[in-house]
Amino acid sequence: KPANTEPPKDKPEPKDLEPAIFVPVDRSPEIQEARLKLPILAEEQVIMEAIKENPVVVLCGETGSGKTTQVPQFLYEAGYGSNNDIIGITEPRRVAAVTMSQRVALEMNLPQDVVSYQIRYEGNVSPETKIKFMTDGVLLKEIQKDFLLKRYRVIIIDEAHERSVYTDILIGLLSRIVPLRTKKGTPLKLIIMSATLRIEDFTENKRLFPITPPVIKVNARQFPVTVHFNKRTPIDDYVGECFRKVSKIHRMLPSGGILVFVTGQAEVHSLCRRLRKMFPHRGKQGAKDDEKDEDALDAKALKEFKKSKPQKKLNLPKISLDNYSALPVDEGDEDREAGGDEEEGSDFDLGLGDAGSDEEEESDSSLPLYVLPLYSLLAPEKQAKVFRPPPSGTRLCVVATNVAETSLTIPGIKFVVDCGKVKKRFYDKVTGVSSFRVEWTSQASADQRAGRAGRTEPGHCYRLYSSAVFSDFEQFSPPEITRRPVEDLVLQMKDLNIEKVVNFPFPTPPSPDALIAAEELLIALGALEEPPKVGRLKALNKAKLSSPITPLGRVMASFPVAPRYAKMLALGKQQDCLPYVITIVAAMTVRELFEELDRPAVNDEEQVTLKGKKARVLQMQKIWAGQGPGQKLGDLMVMLGAVGACEYSGLTPSFCERNGLRYKAMLEIRRLRGQLTTAVNSLCPDVSIFLDSKMSPPTESQVNFLRQIVMSGLGDHIARRIHPEELLDKKWKNGYKTPLLEDPVFIHPNSSLFRQLPDFVVFQEIVETTKMYMKGVSSIEPEWIPILLPQYCHFKDPLEDPPPFYCEASGTVKCQRESTFYRVGWPLPAVEM
Ligand code: ADP
Ligand code: MG
Repeated sequence: KPANTEPPKDKPEPKDLEPAIFVPVDRSPEIQEARLKLPILAEEQVIMEAIKENPVVVLCGETGSGKTTQVPQFLYEAGYGSNNDIIGITEPRRVAAVTMSQRVALEMNLPQDVVSYQIRYEGNVSPETKIKFMTDGVLLKEIQKDFLLKRYRVIIIDEAHERSVYTDILIGLLSRIVPLRTKKGTPLKLIIMSATLRIEDFTENKRLFPITPPVIKVNARQFPVTVHFNKRTPIDDYVGECFRKVSKIHRMLPSGGILVFVTGQAEVHSLCRRLRKMFPHRGKQGAKDDEKDEDALDAKALKEFKKSKPQKKLNLPKISLDNYSALPVDEGDEDREAGGDEEEGSDFDLGLGDAGSDEEEESDSSLPLYVLPLYSLLAPEKQAKVFRPPPSGTRLCVVATNVAETSLTIPGIKFVVDCGKVKKRFYDKVTGVSSFRVEWTSQASADQRAGRAGRTEPGHCYRLYSSAVFSDFEQFSPPEITRRPVEDLVLQMKDLNIEKVVNFPFPTPPSPDALIAAEELLIALGALEEPPKVGRLKALNKAKLSSPITPLGRVMASFPVAPRYAKMLALGKQQDCLPYVITIVAAMTVRELFEELDRPAVNDEEQVTLKGKKARVLQMQKIWAGQGPGQKLGDLMVMLGAVGACEYSGLTPSFCERNGLRYKAMLEIRRLRGQLTTAVNSLCPDVSIFLDSKMSPPTESQVNFLRQIVMSGLGDHIARRIHPEELLDKKWKNGYKTPLLEDPVFIHPNSSLFRQLPDFVVFQEIVETTKMYMKGVSSIEPEWIPILLPQYCHFKDPLEDPPPFYCEASGTVKCQRESTFYRVGWPLPAVEM
C-alpha cells in the first residue's frame, strides 16, 4: 500500500500506536524475587522511555545483567505484544534461542506457544506467539519474504557485540526497514543489545544511522575477580593443563563452581571424561552412569527424530536460512569479542602455582565433582542441566567452549579456568583454501571469560598463560564479515534486490576484493547476470559489482547451502539424480564425516587399536567407493555409500563408531537431507522426491551425470595431472596443477582416487598440512569443460575452426570448437557445439 493512504477506520491514528497499556504478567514469587536482583530491573523506566521516544536504541550491559531475559518482558508488559504484534529477538546461536525462550516462558508463566522459538530445523511458533526468539538467519529469511516485517512491532538484535555476519547484515537491513515503517505509519522499534561497550560501529556510522541512536548502559554488579597468570606459558597440551588446574582447585580451594574454557566439542568431552574418572560423584559406577545418561539422551533424541521422520513424502516445515552459510557447520564456536571490566588481579595465586607434575589419573574418591559439558551443538536437555543446582555435596564443574563466554550465564561460578585459546576458521584470500586453527583469543574475550567468575561473589580466574603472552593478544577480534568469503551473503542480498552490494550500509564492510571475488564467482555460476564488457579492468570490476540476480540465482538463493552447492541442487533435477545430489551436497556441507584416525595415539595400546580400526575403515571405504563406473565419482561416491550404509543400518552410534564415521556429522547430514528435500519439493512441485533412507546406488549414466553436476558447481576447482614431461622436480610426481596455485597439489592419501590418478579432477577443497591436499575429489572428462563451463574457456577464433556442419541427429548446425582452460591455457579436446 502506498504510504499516503488513509489508515483504516478501525485502526488508531499512528501517534496512538505507542502502546500505553499495561499487560499484567503472573510471575511466581521466587521468580519475581530473582528478577528484582537483576541490575536491569532498576533501569526499566529509562529503557522503556528511550524505546518509546526513539526508533532505534542501543542497550549495553555486562553478561548476566538481564538483557535477554528481561527486555522482552518489559516490552510485553508495555503492550508491544498486543494487537497480534510480535516481539522478535534474534540470537546468533541456536542454543541461546531455545534456552532463552524456555527461560522467559517460565519466568512469565506463559506456555511455549506464546513465548516461542524458531531455529533452522525446528520451532514452536504458533498463532498465539507474542515473543519469538530466533536465530539471525531465520529473521534474514523472513525479510526475504516480507521486507517490512509487518508482523513485528519490535526487533531486538541480541549479542550484537559478537558481530556475527548475519547480525551485521540484519542491522544494515533494519536501518532501512525502520524508516520505511515509520513512513507507513506502523513504526517498528529496533533494539540493539551488546554485552560490551564497543558499539561505535553501530552508533558512529552515519551511513547506517544518520541520527545517532541513544545508548543506555546497564551497570551490572560485578564482584572483583582476581586474575592469576601462569608464570610460564605452556604447552601444547592445554587440555591436560586444564585438567591439572581443575584438580588442584577442587582439592585445595573452598566451595564454588568451576567453569573451564576449551576450544571445541572433542576437547570438552575428553576433559569431562578425565575429570569424571578422577572425581566420580557417584563412585566409579556413577561416572559410568553419567556417560550412559548422555548416551541415553542421544538415543532419546534419535528416537524422537525417527518418530518425527515421515515415512512417505516429506512434509517438514518450510526451509529457513538459519545458519545458512558458505561454511560447513562448525562444532567449535567461533571467536567472539567482548570487553570485561573486572579487576585485574594481583599475582597472589592461592598457592596453586603453575603446571604441576602429571597427576596419577586414579580416581580420588574423597571429593565428588559434578562435571557437565556445554557447547553449542549439545542437545538442549543436556544444556539445561548447567542451570540446575548440582547434587548436594558435589561441586559443579562446567567444561565449555566459548558459548559460555557471553550468551549463557551459569549460576554459582566462582572459579574460571581459561586455556586462552579459541578455534577459528582461516581463509586464504586468493584461493579460498581454508583451515581451522586453534589460536590465542583476544584480550577482550579473555576478560569476558574472567568476568564469568564474579557474578555472585568475588571470584578467581586462572589463565593458563603468562601475562606477557596476554599483552601480545590482539585487543579485539575483527568482525567475522572481514575474515571470510562472502559469496553466500552477496547472493542473499541480490535476492533482496540489493544490486549494488558495495553501497550496502554494513556496520563494517567486507573488503572490496572479497566482494569482487564473490561477484565473479556468482557470475560464473550463472547466479548473476554477465556484466556488459567494459574496456578497462577497473571499470569492469565496478560494473561487476552491480550485476542483478538471474532466475537461476533466485533458485539458488532459496537453498540453505553455499552457492556452489546450491548450483548443484538446481541442476540435479535431470535423470532422477536429486536424491543423490541432495545427499552429496549435505555430506559436503557437514564438516568431517570421518573420524580422524591418523592422529597420534596416547599410548601403545591405543596405537594398535587405531591401526586396526584404520585398516577396517579403509576396507569399508573401498566398498563404498563402489566397483566399476561408480569409482569415477571418487570420494563423493564414498560419501554416498557411507550415508546409504548408515541409514540402512538405522544410524546408530555403534555403527558409526565401528566404521570410523562421526555420529554427530551423520545426524547433521540426515537433518540437512530432510531440509533440502523439503526445499526442493516446494520449489519444484513437479518432481516431488522422497527422503529415501534406502537409496539404491546410482546407475552408470547417473554417475556420469553426477560427475558433471559436481563439476558445474566447482568449475574453479578443477585440477589437471602434471604430465611426466612437465615434471620440474621429483617432488611434483603425482601432483596436479590448479588455475590459482603456483605449487602443485596432491590427491589426499585417504582419497579413494589416491592410486588411480585421473588426468582431470574436481575437488571440494584444498587443505594444507604437510602438502597441499585436495579433498573430496571426483574424476571428470576434459571434453565436458567447454560444454558445461564455457565461461571458464577461451575458444579459438571461429575462423580457425573447421567450418560448421549440419548435425542430423539433433537437427542443428554445429561446429568443432577448440579451446583452452582459462588463466592456465590447458588445451581442451575439440568438441562439437
Ligand atoms: P544477559 O542477557 O544480560 O546476559 P540474561 O537475561 O541472560 O542476562 O540472564 C539474567 C539472569 O537470568 C542471569 O543471572 C542468569 O543466571 C539467569 N538465567 C538465565 N537463563 C537461565 C536459565 N535457563 N535458568 C536459570 N537462570 C537463568
Ligand atoms: Mg544475553
